[in-house]
Amino acid sequence: MDTMELNQFWEQLKAELIQALPENAHPWIHPLEISGYDKGVLTVVTGQIMGRDLLRRNHYKQIIDVLKKVTQNPNSDLIIIYDANAAKSLKKESEKLQKKIANAAMKEQAMENLSYMQSAANLNLKYKFENFVVGENNKFAHAVAMSVAQKPAEKYNPLFIYGASGLGKTHLMQAIGHYTIFNNPKLKVKYTKTEDYINDFISNSRNSKDQVENMSKFNRKYTNIDIILIDDIQFIEGKKKTMDQMQHTFDSLYNKGKQIVITSDRLPKDIPNLTAALDSRFAMGLMVELIAPEENNRFEIIKKLAQDNGLIFEENALRYIAKNFSKNVRELEGAFNKVCAYAEITEQSLSLKLAKEILKCDEAEEEISFDKIAEVTSKYYNVEIEDLKSTARGQKISTARHMAIYLSREITEKSFVCIAEYYNKKHTTIMFAYEKIKKELSTNKELSSATREIKQALKLI
Ligand code: ADP
Ligand code: MG
Repeated sequence: MDTMELNQFWEQLKAELIQALPENAHPWIHPLEISGYDKGVLTVVTGQIMGRDLLRRNHYKQIIDVLKKVTQNPNSDLIIIYDANAAKSLKKESEKLQKKIANAAMKEQAMENLSYMQSAANLNLKYKFENFVVGENNKFAHAVAMSVAQKPAEKYNPLFIYGASGLGKTHLMQAIGHYTIFNNPKLKVKYTKTEDYINDFISNSRNSKDQVENMSKFNRKYTNIDIILIDDIQFIEGKKKTMDQMQHTFDSLYNKGKQIVITSDRLPKDIPNLTAALDSRFAMGLMVELIAPEENNRFEIIKKLAQDNGLIFEENALRYIAKNFSKNVRELEGAFNKVCAYAEITEQSLSLKLAKEILKCDEAEEEISFDKIAEVTSKYYNVEIEDLKSTARGQKISTARHMAIYLSREITEKSFVCIAEYYNKKHTTIMFAYEKIKKELSTNKELSSATREIKQALKLI
């Protein structure tokens, strides 16, 4: 659908929604703006957190029913995104882009990219480099992603971004897409979730009289592009035929000098039964890890959210949230949004008192630092802390160093790059030491009792 059709569709749908939903829901329906409609999935944006939550909680089924009725699509679904500025900036961005690009053919391509990126489910205008807060935990991944955006297919191809859920993989990946749309509009970008790729492949490769044509269409769709962004590749697990197809897609793009970016919640070697062919292809370029942000970084992330939304807040309210939600950024944002929603309905400012009342967190325990681990480990092995960071090779020092590295990773879950910086080593050396201890722990009693005692000294058990 082009913008005009999309708006007409939305107006019709909105009128039906007003008819079908009770009056108390109308104030939340009116301000909604459409962001995209793709394969039955309607994405709308609201500037009201409350509106989003209430519609999701109380009227989700009614909205889906109306959507099904209007579109006659039984697989209808709904995504409601909260973004105070999104609805406005969506319009502004297309206008900006239209103005910037004089050449008609380029304009068409750029608009197609933009609408594709926006209609791909879950795409968020927030997922840009400008909104990505850089810290120790992600500065390497961020720099590499930026380099790929600026010079696709030159240095890091494929780029494989991995890390646990909620740490910014999709954000960083889509930032590459947004950057390209605005700075290199003649390039064609495609963002696809792995699940969509799998479903698309299954439906097109089905035996039918059109199978050959369907498959050639499928191939064109995924290879006639300059940058492909494939999100959450771990979902390909167990899908042997799709893996073979992915290998063709990969080779075809790679051989034409096109950029491939992949995200995953784990390394290729940890995706069960990944074909050796794909495993080796994913490892051809660069793998970067995203890890959980430090407390100060977490504070910066929610501070930026608060500022961008023009909220009035007490700094220590944000500090409280940042301290207590350390696992991943999605949870951190969830906690922040929850407090905002209450502040909004009760017309209070975002204060520490309110944050404590709503979130009721147990006071978080102190994080254990690399320093502390190095101190306790060196004491256990009776070596100097400096020895751990040196290149000395004696048996006792090496074991102590390997153990400290292993525990640093296990306990803090920090990246190998981060640990490498602390110990003045290459990150491959750090990975080697970690894997070595991990492997030996199951058979070496001395090592396992050492880990236990050191963890006891760190008051972890
Ligand atoms: P993943 O794909 O790794 O599961 P997402 O990219 O979906 O994680 O990120 C989860 C949420 O956290 C998103 O709303 C994203 O914008 C936000 N986020 C993650 N990292 C950052 C960061 N460094 N700066 C700002 N927001 C971030
Ligand atoms: Mg993701």
